[in-house]
Formats: sequence, C-alpha cells, structure tokens
Amino acid sequence: MERIELGTTKNKEKIKELILITGEKINDCMQCGKCSAGCPAASQMDILPHQIIRYIQLGEWKKLIESKTLWICASCFACASRCPRDLDVAKLLEGMRVMILQEKNSKKIDIEKMGRLMTDEKMPQQAIVSAFRKYSK
Ligand code: SF4
Ligand code: SF4
Repeated sequence: MERIELGTTKNKEKIKELILITGEKINDCMQCGKCSAGCPAASQMDILPHQIIRYIQLGEWKKLIESKTLWICASCFACASRCPRDLDVAKLLEGMRVMILQEKNSKKIDIEKMGRLMTDEKMPQQAIVSAFRKYSK
C-alpha cells in the first residue's frame, strides 16, 4: 500500500525548529480528538488541541502563533496523558510560546514584580512555576 506523507509544504523551517525543540513526532497523530475531549480549557480555545497538531502538520504557522489557545493552555498535561500515540500537545504549545517570545525578544511577565505574587498565600506554587515557564523565555 502506498504511504501518504503528512509532511508540511509551508513554513518548513519553523516547523522543523518546533519539532527539534520538542522532539514530538507530529505525523504519529491520527486525529482521534482524545486530547481535545479531555482538555479542561477547550471551551475557551479558538483552535482545539487536536487541531493544533493538524495545523502543525500542514505548516499553518501564522494561524498557530496568532491563536489564543497558546496562552489559554493551562499546561495540565491531560492531553498528553490521554494520547494513544504518545504525543504531547502541551509540549508543542510550550515550544511555540518559547519560539514566539524568543523571536520578539520579550517576555509576558515582569519577573521583578513576581515577588509580590510569591508572598500571596492564596497563590498556588504550581501557578507561579507554570507562569514562569509559560510567559518567560
Ligand atoms: S490524542 Fe493524540 S493522536 Fe489523538 S488527536 Fe490528540 S494528539 Fe492526535
Ligand atoms: S495541557 Fe493545555 S492543551 Fe493539554 S489538556 Fe491541559 S489545557 Fe488542554
């Protein structure tokens, strides 16, 4: 049987870089949707986790980096734990965030102001660590 390659034709360099930094085998995705079905933030996303993988396969870089999904993802890894193909959508989203922040040479949080948050007893430690990972490079 002839093998169908899902390789991208667009934005190859960006996709190659994303795959290099995440190590994810994007062509293993069979679009089953289990990642999206289990995502607690899916209702707020404009591109669902399984669609993120498809856009990566298709090289739709602009749509990906303009998506609010990147910043809504809570990095809970539910998608990764549900994937029957051992793919980690959260890691791909993090990889894209890092690439965007590096490209802009910017960060979304001012680390100098984090001290105030760290003394807030109601702030879960996991949220602080997650914010560092998510919004700084
Ligand atoms: S659960 Fe895995 S295989 Fe299924 S759509 Fe999501 S990433 Fe692809
Ligand atoms: S890590 Fe992000 S994309 Fe994956 S299930 Fe959690 S919120 Fe959804």
